Amino acid sequence: MFEEKQHLAIPGPTPVPPGVLRATGRPMISHRGEAFHNLLTRVTEGAKQVFQTSNDVLLLTASGTGGLEAAVTNVVSPGDKVIVATIGYFGDRVRDICERWGLNVVRVDSEWGKPTDPEALGAALRQHPDARAVFITHNETSTGVENDLKAIAEVVKGHEALLVVDAISSLGAVNIETDNWGIDMVVTASQKALMAPPGLSLISVSGRAWHIMDGAKSPRFYFDLKKARSSAEKSETPYTPAVSFLYSLEESLGMILKEGLQPIFDRHTLMARMVRTGVKALGLGLLVEDEYGSRTVTAVKVPEGIDGGKLRSILRGYGVVASDGQGQLKGKIFRLAHMGYTTVLDILGMVSALEVALTRMGYPTELGAGIKAIEQVMLG
Ligand SMILES: *Cc1c(COP(=O)(O)O)cnc(C)c1O
Repeated sequence: MFEEKQHLAIPGPTPVPPGVLRATGRPMISHRGEAFHNLLTRVTEGAKQVFQTSNDVLLLTASGTGGLEAAVTNVVSPGDKVIVATIGYFGDRVRDICERWGLNVVRVDSEWGKPTDPEALGAALRQHPDARAVFITHNETSTGVENDLKAIAEVVKGHEALLVVDAISSLGAVNIETDNWGIDMVVTASQKALMAPPGLSLISVSGRAWHIMDGAKSPRFYFDLKKARSSAEKSETPYTPAVSFLYSLEESLGMILKEGLQPIFDRHTLMARMVRTGVKALGLGLLVEDEYGSRTVTAVKVPEGIDGGKLRSILRGYGVVASDGQGQLKGKIFRLAHMGYTTVLDILGMVSALEVALTRMGYPTELGAGIKAIEQVMLG
């Protein structure tokens, strides 16, 4: 099998378009020179359009978790109260970061596979008016649940708490109106819907969040956002950035803006519907109800009597790289991502490979049933 022809259906890193990969190979430049100033300016301007914001957008050389840690450490002081709404593995990670920094964490948990209930969040906010910030995952990659971010932002509005969103597996695939919805901080990373290699985290910061940072005393050094902002004013970063990945991000943001945000959102909605419809037609169960199913990743229950690892290994033989579940869902589900540089053709291939793999494993399913159902979706 050609390594290069495999379809990476894991929820990050996602497939990288050839032009974006080529961009990483450009000659190195001084990160204190004019060419870099222009590069960072172009990337930042492009990113702001995808974030749908006129807030500052900063670039950090880190994976997404670095961006999340920056979001936490810059807006709090030790002992501060924060609300963390978690619906899965990545929400739990943000809670862990908050606890490690000595914060007083109020938990608003939902069962894995379910979204955050905006009502429950509203109740927590009323009960804890001294909460400094609300941390929430927009799209929980571990379960394939998409939170209703607009409704959540509506609930947080009018409270003192900042709204900080992990949009690592949604920004650039699903509509997020940072400014219209009043989101103070949005964190994403280069290797998911933004179609670039892993290595950069992007974070938007509202005026209100900058204001809060003035009084926030938690220690930070590498991820000091105010320092990042003063460098950004000179079109620089405080420390040596991942220049090659900035080239790739410039390229991928260009592709995104050329396709247009709405067509991209529509493509992701269609691909998610195709996957869900196809999987159901094969008789498999989905972890999450259609109503809040993620537009970028779908969690499929491993059927009784089938070894999920074996199933994924057969899929790999056909060139489809799927993911296991994480945490409590390990071995119980497998996940198919449909994010970024992924098209209708990839979905057809994935579901076809799944039909054959299941049949080979003795699972009773009708060959072609998934594809047939998907083609009906494509006909509209
Ligand atoms: C991938 C992901 C992360 C972690 O990002 P890393 O780049 O692996 O650090 C965090 N949150 C969500 C929702 C993710 O999908």
